[in-house]
Amino acid sequence: MDPVISQLAGLVLAGEAIDREGAMQLADVTGERLYDLFYWANRVRMARFGLSVTFCSIAAGRVGGCSEDCKFCAQSARHQTHIQAGPAATDAQLVAAAREAVRAGAGSFGIVNPGRSPSAKELAGLADSYRELAAVGSLRLCASLGCLTLDQARRLCAMGVRRYNHNLETSRRFYPSIVSTHAFDDRVNTLRNVKAAGMDICSGGIFNLGETWADRVDMAITLRELGAVMVPLNFLHPIPGTPLADRPAMPAMDVLKVVAIYRLLLPGAEIKLAGGRELNLRDLQSWMFYCGATSAMVGNYLTTCGRPTEQDQAMVRDLGLTLRNEHQP
Ligand code: SF4
Repeated sequence: MDPVISQLAGLVLAGEAIDREGAMQLADVTGERLYDLFYWANRVRMARFGLSVTFCSIAAGRVGGCSEDCKFCAQSARHQTHIQAGPAATDAQLVAAAREAVRAGAGSFGIVNPGRSPSAKELAGLADSYRELAAVGSLRLCASLGCLTLDQARRLCAMGVRRYNHNLETSRRFYPSIVSTHAFDDRVNTLRNVKAAGMDICSGGIFNLGETWADRVDMAITLRELGAVMVPLNFLHPIPGTPLADRPAMPAMDVLKVVAIYRLLLPGAEIKLAGGRELNLRDLQSWMFYCGATSAMVGNYLTTCGRPTEQDQAMVRDLGLTLRNEHQP
């Protein structure tokens, strides 16, 4: 067993945190040492979460027409993509999506809207939507609506939203290469407002944008400092018309290495595989849990299709894992 990885994992199992220097040692792991890294990521996952995993599901409140310029995103109005701005989903459509999420075994369900931040009218309209969604039952209600002030965060919390997603996307250092219309600190401040309002932080990022392993490590450390309880990991699904359309897929072993490093750096957080997992992990889907993930986004993503939820349910069953839902009555 690799002595460096064993020593760092031992720290985590003893309740201590791996510092940046140790994290960069994990980032240097390649070849057959990766299998030692995965072994320890699984040990850490089992120590904290046992055999249970969770599913999350999302629905678009509306799509497209976003004012921002995130280079990976199909919904930016600044890129010529196949996504056109469309009308808002009705409450009946959102409730149908939430019922489908329950059938799929999801414990959390979020409304996701593009844009820098929600308008006053949009926020007011969401109160009715969340009231209807609460009646579906057995779902943690989540939202992802862009940057929030403290007042907006409090209003969402009062509507019953318990977890708010706002991804950092990448490291502070690399962020200006990916987004120019709002700052990294706008995102950090939103997460602080979310926490101050009493909601849980769901925040992660997207990989294979051209970032280095140091950027990947630094984003994990920032998320740890901010207190993220759910960390969605997205892997670029290149969209024609975006500036990153021609990037090749990420090697599947690099995807698993990201998952394992995040497990060791964020041992108490749920690590969720989200957008791009099918494209980038290909045949290695089921390895995500052994490498430290505790959660998966199921169903369709906002602008790309996921695989049938029955396949994800079968994968969990076949691995001897159980689906956890804290919101089951
Ligand atoms: S990631 Fe969000 S903020 Fe950025 S362009 Fe897409 S919808 Fe807009």
